[in-house]
Amino acid sequence: MIPRSFQYVAPKTLPEVVRTLRKYKGDAKLLAGGHSLVPLMKLRLSNPQVIVDMRHLRPKLAYIKSDGKEVRIGALTRHAEIEHSAELKRVLPIFPAAAEWIGDMQVRNMGTIGGSLAHADPASDWPVVALATDATLVAYSGRTRRIPAVKFFQGPFTTSLKYYEVLTEIAVPKPPPEHGWAWKKFERKAGDFATVNTAVFITPGRDGRIERASIAVGAVHTKPYRATESERMLAGKVPTIDLLRSAAEKAAEIAEPASDLRGSAEYKREMVKVFVRRALVEACERANLIRPQVAEVR
Ligand SMILES: Cc1cc2nc3c(=O)[nH]c(=O)nc-3n(C[C@H](O)[C@H](O)[C@H](O)COP(=O)(O)OP(=O)(O)OC[C@H]3O[C@@H](n4cnc5c(N)ncnc54)[C@H](O)[C@@H]3O)c2cc1C
Repeated sequence: MIPRSFQYVAPKTLPEVVRTLRKYKGDAKLLAGGHSLVPLMKLRLSNPQVIVDMRHLRPKLAYIKSDGKEVRIGALTRHAEIEHSAELKRVLPIFPAAAEWIGDMQVRNMGTIGGSLAHADPASDWPVVALATDATLVAYSGRTRRIPAVKFFQGPFTTSLKYYEVLTEIAVPKPPPEHGWAWKKFERKAGDFATVNTAVFITPGRDGRIERASIAVGAVHTKPYRATESERMLAGKVPTIDLLRSAAEKAAEIAEPASDLRGSAEYKREMVKVFVRRALVEACERANLIRPQVAEVR
């Protein structure tokens, strides 16, 4: 289908973008990579009066900076730029690992991390990574507002951003170099959205114990969630395969998946158990808390 007619503007500066958003009071939509917005407009599920193209902001808002205690990723950074970033591969390898699984090369060359987070599709990949890594999302509306990822996602395609706010940056605390991580995405076919996706971070402590675990799960609820009970089960414990399996089963209790073309609700809940368990095993291996496991255990 063809979108309804709309006005097109491409402001040169961030304050101009905000002024335009304020002027049209929710009838204006930001355009980043266009890989979620344009399909919705073609289906006429989104019918903005004005499109505010952010193309001129790319020199300012597309970057990956690793300084001090944070890695800062500009909102207009494309998935492919994250996938190939040598600095992220060194400091926060979960980001390039997750980027590699987004859509196909064309999608990754156009879509942006900020667009994906602002769009808040419950089956998308960046929200799960942002939750697991305790990221802070930075919004600009004339002043700057820092929003923890856990407060950002409110429901399907709904965030705590105001209509006049622009997401400008994703700030991620640097994990200790010895941390373990894992990204698992179960997709029906190559390039598809997730049936289940999960991101796990493990901070190793003393005597082979887990100091801290962070587990985020997506695609099986109205919004991605942190499996906080599972995290508590693991904190301070020496990881065993049985313990990791129990933590994964606990994580699946929160899931409220819908039955659809990707499988029944029961099947998806089972897949949460499988993929969270695999992610926990892999993250503990990377943190040197368990020896590499044979395939059946994973
Ligand atoms: C074929 C296909 C396969 C895909 N597969 C996957 C996949 O496997 N995993 C996955 O996670 N995603 C997938 N996607 C989605 C893709 O990652 C999109 O690029 C992403 O969701 C949106 O980013 P964008 O830059 O294209 O945003 P746009 O489409 O330009 O914008 C999306 C929404 O966010 C708003 N917005 C954009 N930028 C900002 C900002 N800085 N501040 C505030 N609001 C903003 C827009 O107004 C719009 O409402 C797929 C898309 C396609 C077309």
